[in-house]
Amino acid sequence: MPTKDYYETLGIARDASGEEIKQAYRSLARKHHPDVSDDKSVAEHRFKEINEAYEVLSDPNKRAQYDRFGSVGNGAGGASDFGFGQAGFGDIFDMFFGNVRPNAARRSGPQRGSDLRYDLEISLEEAFSGTTKEISFTHLAQCETCKGTCAQPGSLIVSCPQCNGSGIMRVARQTPLGQIVTQMTCSRCAGEGHTVQQPCEACEGRGRREIERKLSVKVPAGVDDGSRIRIAGNGEAGIRGGPAGDLYVYLGVAAHPLFNRDGMDTYVDIPVRFPQAALGAALSVPTLEGELPMTLPPGTQPGTVLRMKGKGMPSVRGAQRGDHHVTVHVMVPTKMNKRQRDMLEEYANAGGDEIEERSFFDRVKDAFRPE
Ligand SMILES: [Zn+2]
Ligand SMILES: [Zn+2]
Repeated sequence: MPTKDYYETLGIARDASGEEIKQAYRSLARKHHPDVSDDKSVAEHRFKEINEAYEVLSDPNKRAQYDRFGSVGNGAGGASDFGFGQAGFGDIFDMFFGNVRPNAARRSGPQRGSDLRYDLEISLEEAFSGTTKEISFTHLAQCETCKGTCAQPGSLIVSCPQCNGSGIMRVARQTPLGQIVTQMTCSRCAGEGHTVQQPCEACEGRGRREIERKLSVKVPAGVDDGSRIRIAGNGEAGIRGGPAGDLYVYLGVAAHPLFNRDGMDTYVDIPVRFPQAALGAALSVPTLEGELPMTLPPGTQPGTVLRMKGKGMPSVRGAQRGDHHVTVHVMVPTKMNKRQRDMLEEYANAGGDEIEERSFFDRVKDAFRPE
């Protein structure tokens, strides 16, 4: 999806105030409204763009998201989640003509329920081994009492008296732009062509009710920050027999006090004592599966990175494992007792501190020697 510049669409500055956005929108919408324009298809396209831009920039949350990410479509299921297009048309009609809506045919069909997003934070250990989490959230579910029909059980569903069952009304109105005849959704039956004698009491005739849901979410091993899990059919209930939306669980993996992670590879810093680095040692290194033995070779230099192959994160898909990278920090003693100091001095006198130094300077000289 190409990124559109909503500010450019509305012809406003990036720091425009809410009032400026509204004013720009109103004057553009008036100019490009399909019903008052000569070229309907061009106007309709432009009108949709204007509405889309206004939808986003007039909502502080969506605007902030757009400013940060350049789109609002990276949420669950893309830009359509925000109801661009149709809702935009509705808004402008509300503004000019009061609460009536065009496009009866589209409005009265089954509508898919909205997708939902749930943010779930897990630890790195949980991401490593996989886990099952209980989540609870509220969503619009089909009303149990009326089964989504909106009618109180036992009450009749009758043909709408206002539109004689067609769901569509034709209304001529005087506007500042002249007389406009519009076909629009029947305000009484919302385009359905029928109404209920007595609305369902449990859902106040809406067919859906907000309920609290609990759900077990299985998080597979190897997930990363930003991974998402789609749980089909667990979003909001559809309207007029439409399918339910989906629930998207977005995972955040918390920072770990000991380990860093980059994809499937993990990283840890370990301190070793100076004699261990010089003489070599058998170490016990923390990994995500517990402490594991590692051999420190004699003469290990500070900052050396040792790789424990296959001891990183698992991949979500297969049996592959990343590597665990161990950075060695050599601790130089800051306090020594007399005996330690004497022995270290003896070591220095024996030439022990010159060997490495000499080879170090040789390496520097090699590096600067012209070819
Ligand atoms: Zn109900
Ligand atoms: Zn009607």
